[in-house]
Amino acid sequence: MIFFESTIFWRKKVGDTKPKSAKTFGKKEFAYFLFLIIMCLFFIIWHCPYNSAQRLQDNTITMELYEERLKMNLVSSSADVDLIERERDQLLLTIEEKIVGFLYQIPDYSYISSLETYLQFRPRLLEQFPSAVPLEKGNYSISSNYGIRVHPISDKEKKHYGIDLATPRGKYVYASASGTIKDILYSKKGYGTHIIIKHRFGFETLYGHLNKVLVRKGQTVKQHEMIGAVGSTGSSTGYHLHYEILKNKHKIDPKLSFNLKNTIYTHLIELNTTKDGVE
Ligand SMILES: [Zn+2]
Repeated sequence: MIFFESTIFWRKKVGDTKPKSAKTFGKKEFAYFLFLIIMCLFFIIWHCPYNSAQRLQDNTITMELYEERLKMNLVSSSADVDLIERERDQLLLTIEEKIVGFLYQIPDYSYISSLETYLQFRPRLLEQFPSAVPLEKGNYSISSNYGIRVHPISDKEKKHYGIDLATPRGKYVYASASGTIKDILYSKKGYGTHIIIKHRFGFETLYGHLNKVLVRKGQTVKQHEMIGAVGSTGSSTGYHLHYEILKNKHKIDPKLSFNLKNTIYTHLIELNTTKDGVE
């Protein structure tokens, strides 16, 4: 009898604990846990390099299709001129939207080459992101590239996050794209007197070791607008401009941006000259 009662007591005890354990990790909690895992997996897959590259690839293919349609539109012999013009405007707008999306997605300039064809349809976009040298043509030489180097002051191996453009003191520095002056900092070490500009599509540029600043914080500047003059302020061994490009907060190699605008405009001029020659 005693044994029987104790068994019931034991059973009751088990009965009591069951709902408790169900409360700790029941169906609802499991579903929530599963949802979290799926979200984490989705986030990892979405952000993995292969997926980004694939998305960029898909974007390029879509743009190629639009380009084909645009070419067909341009040679169309249809009598309805209004309809053709409307379709052309629509196609150009769609191409621009695709380029904008692409520019936001790309991690650096290594992807830009696949954009060059399409930028010819919308060359004004080149004004909104770094696509030119921030100094006057022929007035500088590259004294240090982006990447690992032996630091001229500390003599230790260190990554150089920008490009050094050696040029005489006082040479004017120009904004490499339109944007807003994000910061002007006067430091005795590091970059010395430097300007940071925020551009469209997640780009920022930094101009270091300046001698003179010709802009103010918050001011909007156009591409090729004068912003300062070359100096040797901060940790510097001679007159030069330290130029950096940041894309989505990461410092990237600016070299491929230097000739971008020039290449595309030269090609456009050549195309127009050929057309003129035919006509
Ligand atoms: Zn430098």
